[in-house]
Amino acid sequence: MIDFELEPQVIERLKMYHAVAENLMRPISREYDEREHEDPDQFFQTMWQAQALADAAPARNDRDGAERKNGPRPRNLLTCITTEEMCWGDAGLFLATPNSGLGGAAVMAAGTPEQKARFLKRFSEGEPKWGAMAITEPQCGSDSAAIQTTAVRDGDHWVINGTKIFCTAGQRAAEKSDGFVVVWASVDKNAGRAGIKSFVVERGTPGMEVTRVEKKLGIRVSDTAMIIFDNCRVPLDHLLGSAEVRRDGGFKDAMATFDATRPIVAAMAIGVGRAALDYVRGFLREQKVPIRYGISPRRLTAVERDFMEMEVQLQAARLLTWRAAWMLDAGKRNNLEASMAKAKAGLVVTQITQKAVELLGPLGYSRSLLLEKWMRDAKINDIFEGTQQINMLIVARRILGYGSKELN
Ligand SMILES: Cc1cc2nc3c(=O)[nH]c(=O)nc-3n(C[C@H](O)[C@H](O)[C@H](O)COP(=O)(O)OP(=O)(O)OC[C@H]3O[C@@H](n4cnc5c(N)ncnc54)[C@H](O)[C@@H]3O)c2cc1C
Repeated sequence: MIDFELEPQVIERLKMYHAVAENLMRPISREYDEREHEDPDQFFQTMWQAQALADAAPARNDRDGAERKNGPRPRNLLTCITTEEMCWGDAGLFLATPNSGLGGAAVMAAGTPEQKARFLKRFSEGEPKWGAMAITEPQCGSDSAAIQTTAVRDGDHWVINGTKIFCTAGQRAAEKSDGFVVVWASVDKNAGRAGIKSFVVERGTPGMEVTRVEKKLGIRVSDTAMIIFDNCRVPLDHLLGSAEVRRDGGFKDAMATFDATRPIVAAMAIGVGRAALDYVRGFLREQKVPIRYGISPRRLTAVERDFMEMEVQLQAARLLTWRAAWMLDAGKRNNLEASMAKAKAGLVVTQITQKAVELLGPLGYSRSLLLEKWMRDAKINDIFEGTQQINMLIVARRILGYGSKELN
């Protein structure tokens, strides 16, 4: 039986996240968009303290989880729900917020239980941290199997060499308190994609250097870094999961990261889309422009039709996203559903935010409102964690039963 009712504790938690989004993120949204890459120190401080407090809650919930009639706590689904709320506040600030981020998702997806406990320390136990995931290289992004970065075993260390670009939160993770970067590198070039493994490189490790931070269209408070690994040595047990190179599907372990991160990116998109939709709804109400539900489509005005289309598309993206996250929590393979959710949400958020700007005309285009910023922030959801086209390709392959050699 599928149940989309949120439990009372989840609703309570959502209210808390909404308060953070509304009262802490929205008021500084414009300022930190314009002061690209500057740290919103006050926001970070507040979030560190809030995270440390919230840290205690999952432990309590996990204990309760044993008694929950619906089974253990749906960790991935909850992450998607809270991500939407935070990105309703500000997607850039969400990505910059001190937490283990995409790096943490990679550890969760590929790490052993011991590695998860070691690298994902709780906030309440120590320094706050940022986590980043570095896959993309100057010569490859979509084709992640083509990465050139290498990890060579030398005694009780791996020695990593290569260049990573466009790494979200890369600078904060590599340079700030207790951060870490999860790096994809090949341990055996002859093995092709099966030789690719992920490694945790902790902040301050000699040989890891941030050499550039990108200036961008949107999510401008989030840093996007180029990181060079030059004879960067990490202990053997920083390789996530097994070091064994299995030609029968070894790459699937690394790719499992995307099954966890794509629903999160889809939820980010939905948060930004909902922000735009909510603004347009309020604006139309103020202007006394009615949205009449339940009447014949023939009698709808153009504005009503546009608005309802935006609502429907957002809801469809949300349902796909929740399904993908729910499947992961239930231990089901969700690779198809994660790509469906990501492709749909990335497309929908760009359409909704553009339509919102269009409906408000010059006001939408003006910097006096956040609509134009949301339009800029939206586009990245169509690019990172696999572009729109790549996710559609994955969906097509899975539905048609083709491999990457047959359909590319
Ligand atoms: C702000 C930002 C943050 C990012 N954060 C991260 C991060 O944290 N970690 C990380 O590793 N990377 C990150 N990236 C990189 C991002 O994931 C890649 O840019 C993306 O995967 C595309 O890869 P590419 O840049 O090599 O583009 P390409 O692969 O060269 O793609 C260019 C265009 O060609 C299309 N295309 C490519 N192959 C095909 C195909 N087979 N069929 C149809 N169309 C195709 C793509 O869809 C795209 O439209 C980030 C990028 C940005 C802009």
